[in-house]
Amino acid sequence: MLGAFEVSDAERKKLEHSGIVFKPVGEWFRAPLPCAAWARSGCTVYDVRPEVCVKFRCALLKAVDAGSVAEAEALATVAQAHRLTAAVNEGLQAAFPGSGESREKQLRDAAATSEGRARHVQLLLDKAALEVHLQRHFRETVPAK
Ligand code: SF4
Repeated sequence: MLGAFEVSDAERKKLEHSGIVFKPVGEWFRAPLPCAAWARSGCTVYDVRPEVCVKFRCALLKAVDAGSVAEAEALATVAQAHRLTAAVNEGLQAAFPGSGESREKQLRDAAATSEGRARHVQLLLDKAALEVHLQRHFRETVPAK
């Protein structure tokens, strides 16, 4: 899922104490992604997650369903995503400790200057590796024309 997700009023009520902030959109309620209920260990509201989350199948899961990726290979791909995510999170915390401003934004700002790029080169490489991994294995790919 990208950008945002929408839930029914009944689902929103179940998620009242989740930390997710919903805005009404017609009869539905919309929340931004990345989801506020996500933690390093996974979904913190897994038992009451909304239908849209239950039904969501990433590209990797679809490939497992289709039999084009073996379950063991998929688990290794997920483990690699966790390792890359941990490296980026640790790098962001080390580079921008105790800041209220989004660490991601601070990294983007730093990357806009040659000095900032030189200072955070390893973190930028780790972040690029994570993005490539996520794009390659988890996100929908546009078929080549
Ligand atoms: S699965 Fe959980 S963490 Fe992910 S979007 Fe749904 S509620 Fe949020």
